[in-house]
Amino acid sequence: MSEPKRVKVIVFNGAYFVITKRCVMLWILGILLFLVLFCGPHLWVKFTLQRYAKKRDDLPGSGGELAEHLIRRFELHEVSVETTQEGQDHFDIQQHKVRLSPSVFNGQSLTAVAVASHEVGHAIAHERQEGIARLRMRYLPKAVFLQRLAAGLLIGWPLLSILLHIPYAVVIHALVVGISGLLAVFVQLAILPEEWDASFHKALPILAEGDYLPKEDLPKVKRILFACAMTYVSAALLKMLFVWRWFKR
Ligand SMILES: [Zn+2]
Repeated sequence: MSEPKRVKVIVFNGAYFVITKRCVMLWILGILLFLVLFCGPHLWVKFTLQRYAKKRDDLPGSGGELAEHLIRRFELHEVSVETTQEGQDHFDIQQHKVRLSPSVFNGQSLTAVAVASHEVGHAIAHERQEGIARLRMRYLPKAVFLQRLAAGLLIGWPLLSILLHIPYAVVIHALVVGISGLLAVFVQLAILPEEWDASFHKALPILAEGDYLPKEDLPKVKRILFACAMTYVSAALLKMLFVWRWFKR
């Protein structure tokens, strides 16, 4: 006689749920896949930037010094460099400022060199008024709007379902919020070509052709520049798991 299959029956709200070992395994696999998909890119970006942040005495200067040098070299007369909060490196289009984290501005590492040249890459594209430099201006407000919409629906859906005469269901609530959150991620993807341009059409050729670092470090720099290009998309994916971040910009 074969051993009976071990099952657990849960009664919830009048419905029966049969839980088998296979069912539990599938749930665990699903949750792991979910975590890898939404957390993985952000963790990889952070890991890569930290991995190459060690001080390198053989590099000619800090990230801030390189940014200032490149601004002079490419005659970006209106652009200047200043520090910002850690992890908030960006090029401010309105103020014409390359803002670098203290660890990038003062750091003498492959990460500092790559991040500084990526941000100057944005500055070059903007100051030359290249079409690609308009993607952020065009799509970022849309992504922010969709994130706020998702945040609003997270709180307001129960009320909206009453107004729209749709019976309230947790699954529909989660779907509506999830879809609007995912749309925000897709809008971030529209900005990716601008990020890619700053990394691989500006920063990489500058670093590859100049005497800013040993040539054998270029494969590592490519990895850092890829991480720079993926920063916003990976942050948007992470926001899908930490929904309270939708309430912040
Ligand atoms: Zn960028």
